[in-house]
Amino acid sequence: MTETWLPVVDAEESHSVSNEGRVRSEDRMIMIKGSLARRDGKILKGQPNSKGYLRVWICGKQRFIHHMVLQSFQGTRPDGLWALHWDDDHSNNAWSNLYYGTPTQNGEDLVRNGKNLNANKEECLNGHKYTPENTITKIAKSGRIGRSCRICARKRSREYMQRKAKQAKDLQLNTHREHQIKGSAA
Ligand SMILES: [Zn+2]
Repeated sequence: MTETWLPVVDAEESHSVSNEGRVRSEDRMIMIKGSLARRDGKILKGQPNSKGYLRVWICGKQRFIHHMVLQSFQGTRPDGLWALHWDDDHSNNAWSNLYYGTPTQNGEDLVRNGKNLNANKEECLNGHKYTPENTITKIAKSGRIGRSCRICARKRSREYMQRKAKQAKDLQLNTHREHQIKGSAA
């Protein structure tokens, strides 16, 4: 695939972004001591943030490369959609790896690419198999997928009920004793 360049949105005059996820500054003329001099443009090296998303600084502003690629090649991000990496490699900003998707799709990417530890586990902490029948799946607002074990959930709720029942019984017993004590004192 040949590398194609398009102007960076909001920095159309000075910077370009490519379908391979590279960013460059354009050649430009600047004034030095009263005469025009040419400055060659250069490729900007993306700096990863804590999550591995690459960004560059353009006119003092932090710009994420995956956002710039999608903005220039795909268009403005629709409301409610995220700029997502198909392979979950945040440093792979080729247009072919990027798309606007829902948080749910982000969760699916995570599972497909094995980033979600829970989704890859075969068993719960207590050794119950994560079969489809025994798996409770929850998708968090963040798009992360969480799984929990149905057997353990049932056990927890049973234990909770037993505890409640015992508390109620103890209470009854105590009330009964109080009556007895009161009764014998009278
Ligand atoms: Zn379990």
